[in-house]
Amino acid sequence: MELVGVTDNVAYIPGAVNIGVLRNGKRCTVIDTGLDKNSGRSIRKVLEAEGLKLEAIINTHSHADHFGGNDYLARNLNAEVYVPAIESGIIQNPILEPIYLFHGATPIRNLRNKFVLAKPSPVDHIIGPGKLEVIGLDLEIIPLPGHCFNQIGVLVDNVLFCADTVFSERVINKYKIPVVQDVGRHLDTLEKLRVMEHNLFVPAHTKPVEDIKGLVTKNLSTTYGILDDIKRILEEPKTTERVMSKLCTDYELDLTIVQQYYLIHMTIMAYLGYMYDEKQIDIEMEDNLLRWKISP
Ligand SMILES: [Zn+2]
Repeated sequence: MELVGVTDNVAYIPGAVNIGVLRNGKRCTVIDTGLDKNSGRSIRKVLEAEGLKLEAIINTHSHADHFGGNDYLARNLNAEVYVPAIESGIIQNPILEPIYLFHGATPIRNLRNKFVLAKPSPVDHIIGPGKLEVIGLDLEIIPLPGHCFNQIGVLVDNVLFCADTVFSERVINKYKIPVVQDVGRHLDTLEKLRVMEHNLFVPAHTKPVEDIKGLVTKNLSTTYGILDDIKRILEEPKTTERVMSKLCTDYELDLTIVQQYYLIHMTIMAYLGYMYDEKQIDIEMEDNLLRWKISP
């Protein structure tokens, strides 16, 4: 892992999750910490090689791959943790992620691995939209909800760390149904992102880009495509599981990992919930099954 400089104060460490590094002299803050202790260790190594002292961690959202390194870094380097509300509940009590994936029940063991269950992290500051001063730097917290309930981005020196708002074409072509927890707010966030002008955008899972419009367009068309396909599938009323099975078959997905099944299940629920609240689809209850159907 290595540090890539962007401005005097802004850098990032490219990886499975791009880690933002903000520095002011020797003081530094990271944006997200990767999956686990190993990511924490690697981040520490890179920062120490640069003579930087980690004072703060900002988390964009509460998915395990974004805050799994918090425990190691906060404990060993005494860094203070800044997170948005709602996300903070999960970051402090990570078992909530597999609990919600398993519909609120005690999660089965397949959902208790590090990809969905990180180590608990302390939280020192709850952050909201607007200005924030950390390590003497002026940052702006930008709300980017949708992919996750209360996801945020961090704007500094005209560089926007935009978390999991957009995925690359490669990732979308591979996984077909990117994780979304609130489809309506995801669409609003993408529309907002589309007209933003900044010097650089740093998404978490793909290369930084100067112009985000292409990525936004791809992610918007993916979301609208899934909505259209679900509408088509619901020409005959179906249960959530039947909608999911048909959509995955049509997309040539072959789900074999239980945790992937539940992530996609949650995402399909987000789509169905959005369509229901938008009055595009309706519910019918019969034989003790809940089926979705096109609104008359
Ligand atoms: Zn995420």
